[in-house]
Amino acid sequence: MLIVPEREIADLMTRDAAFAAVEQVFAAMAADKAYNFPVVREAIGHEDALYGFKGGFDRAGLTLGLKAGGYWPNNMDKRGLINHQSTVFLFDPDTGKVRAMVGGNLLTALRTAAASSVSIRHLARKDAKVIGMIGAGHQATFQLRAALEQRGFEKVIGWNYHPEMLPNIEKVATEAGLPFAAVDLPGMAEADVIITITSAFAPSLLAEHVSPGTHIACMGTDTKGKQEVEAALLARATVFADEIAQSVSIGEAQHAIAEGLLQEADIAQLGAVINGTHPGRKDAAEITLFDGTGVGLQDLAVAAAVVDLAVAQGRAIEVDF
Ligand code: NAD
Repeated sequence: MLIVPEREIADLMTRDAAFAAVEQVFAAMAADKAYNFPVVREAIGHEDALYGFKGGFDRAGLTLGLKAGGYWPNNMDKRGLINHQSTVFLFDPDTGKVRAMVGGNLLTALRTAAASSVSIRHLARKDAKVIGMIGAGHQATFQLRAALEQRGFEKVIGWNYHPEMLPNIEKVATEAGLPFAAVDLPGMAEADVIITITSAFAPSLLAEHVSPGTHIACMGTDTKGKQEVEAALLARATVFADEIAQSVSIGEAQHAIAEGLLQEADIAQLGAVINGTHPGRKDAAEITLFDGTGVGLQDLAVAAAVVDLAVAQGRAIEVDF
């Protein structure tokens, strides 16, 4: 069995490798060559922790496994550890033997950023110049760094519920040599691409804040009850998802469906655009919206990619098992 510890991931994994892995697995999902297993998520009654498993099988990439982990809210205060903890286990699909154990914390941020990046590559207007960020927490910096590689952006604008956190994303913009401006929510009308990545349970971005032709990647809503954008925005947009079943149950679409503003059949898989079985953006005025809920297959895809990189660089730890 191979082990790739968390401490090795930052040196090994690249944004390009994460992008390629996530794009490939979204394509495989849309071609019915890969599927996610039902998600298990439990409040375990200890340390207020939420623990669970996300797994799947990609028959095209021959990646089988699961990500185990969750959220321990007391970690930072009590132990100086990050609150989100996860580990990916990969299995040999021919034999069922465990193949690898991979640190999943940084990989989660990289695969989530890769997902919105894939949506921008395939759905945003080619001439997009202004990117708007709603959210300025841990994931937001990864999101922005990856997104900036997808178009010739000339400016970053940002809004956050906690404005004191905005310097987190301003720093990423500055590192990329781009100007940054804090805006109010109506100011988002200037953006050609908007990423929402917050833990909100009520909408911030309203339909009236978004200009025609914008691509929006909604990345924060991954649980029943969470919501970042007004349901009416999904009715105005062409909606794409990583996985439709998750989009309607735990993604942004849950609210538009509940309000009768959107039907499940209106949602397309992003993978279908990658495969060319869906035309994607129709014209420069269309609003496209990607509901990125985060699927187990993304975790497995980036873990398999990092195992390959670790093996190639002689940095995977091999143990008899
Ligand atoms: P974080 O705690 O570092 O940041 C939270 C962000 O949400 C901050 O910008 C904060 O200001 C904002 N926020 C908090 N309360 C708000 C409110 N009431 N209204 C508007 N904004 C509010 O968290 P993070 O690690 O950056 O994660 C952000 C979200 O992304 C979480 O909801 C997390 O579950 C989700 N997430 C999704 C995926 C996926 O694959 N889709 C993957 C990882 C994380």
